[in-house]
Amino acid sequence: MDKLIYLDNAATTQVYPEVLDAMLPYFTQYYGNPSAIYTFAGKAAKAVNEARAALAAGIGAVPEEIYFTGGGSESDNWALKAAVETFGREGAHIITTKIEHHAVLHSAQYLEKRGCKVTYLDVDENGFVRPEDVKAAIRANTALISVMAANNEIGTIEPLREIGEIAKENGILFHTDAVQAFGHIPLDVNAMHIDLLSASAHKINGPKGIGFLYIRKGTKIGSFIHGGAQERQRRAGTHNTAGIVGFGKAAEMAFHDMAERKEKETELRDYLIDRVLTEIPYSRLNGDRTQRLPGNAHFCFRFIEGESLLILLDQNGICASSGSACTSGALDPSHVLLAIGLAHEIAHGSLRLTLSEKTTKEEIDYTVEKIKEIVERLRNMSPLYEDFIKKQAL
Ligand SMILES: *Cc1c(COP(=O)(O)O)cnc(C)c1O
Repeated sequence: MDKLIYLDNAATTQVYPEVLDAMLPYFTQYYGNPSAIYTFAGKAAKAVNEARAALAAGIGAVPEEIYFTGGGSESDNWALKAAVETFGREGAHIITTKIEHHAVLHSAQYLEKRGCKVTYLDVDENGFVRPEDVKAAIRANTALISVMAANNEIGTIEPLREIGEIAKENGILFHTDAVQAFGHIPLDVNAMHIDLLSASAHKINGPKGIGFLYIRKGTKIGSFIHGGAQERQRRAGTHNTAGIVGFGKAAEMAFHDMAERKEKETELRDYLIDRVLTEIPYSRLNGDRTQRLPGNAHFCFRFIEGESLLILLDQNGICASSGSACTSGALDPSHVLLAIGLAHEIAHGSLRLTLSEKTTKEEIDYTVEKIKEIVERLRNMSPLYEDFIKKQAL
């Protein structure tokens, strides 16, 4: 195959041509500042508000609850840092999990250094947070519960509704990092009792550098970026009109055929998982078999280094990841794989393949053949594997 095979859609996605087309006029034609008074800027302001409405509708929110940000990382930083500040930093306690994205984990660590207390909940072997653990961790001074909607590495979908109910019963703010889930699986801020929700455009075929934080009406939470009065005085900075329009268009497209897209990706994902597990010895699937993101497959192959596998796949035109884009290049095994209880040497041999609705069966077949070849080749060079086989033979 001469074609590039892109199986890293959890890291970022292609901007769809329809999305780009929707964005383009807002660079050269309707470039007015949406906050300006004159009619010329009105076109931009209207486009921003239409996008806001489309995004809100996708999660059962109202448009005034959507606050545009510079992406998922900013939304996560905002939710954690501002929630704690509003609560009163001295003695505030946060409940989160060991498998969050670094935008949440590193914000929590930052707050810990400034006097906050943080509980990092364990997860089970499939990556599920147990709602009863959330309940047991609640203290009198708990300011926020932050649990991701779906994990970016192993794809596990968390029991948001149960956790939201616990948060609500106890009058505690509930934030979810929904960057991997938004536009891919159904989310409802009311049914799930979510007060704060982070989303990002570039994970749903929109542009990079634009996201939002949903803030439930009436939630006491201050600003994170200070300056002008944009976004109802809660998030300063001239609107990224084209980015916002692109995000709105991408969300419209994602929500329009979410059910079919989900079914198609799930079918191909299950085919991929079945082939890998049956055809490659000493391989394992990470994350739950069914409660996982439609496009996510995540494996560990014993006796090999994930990095070597990625390099050899790249030489065959296949873009894949060992897990989180943020830890690629780092030598430590993924915090998510350690949290689900994998030994270091097994966690090192990880491979994440994330599909899109455009991924084909031919691409998956080619990829599985290449993985088989490469894993065998790497194992044949591995002293660990040699020892293992010798011991098996005894
Ligand atoms: C990608 C991602 C982020 C970061 O979003 P950006 O828009 O890239 O800043 C945060 N959380 C999760 C779960 C992600 O997958």
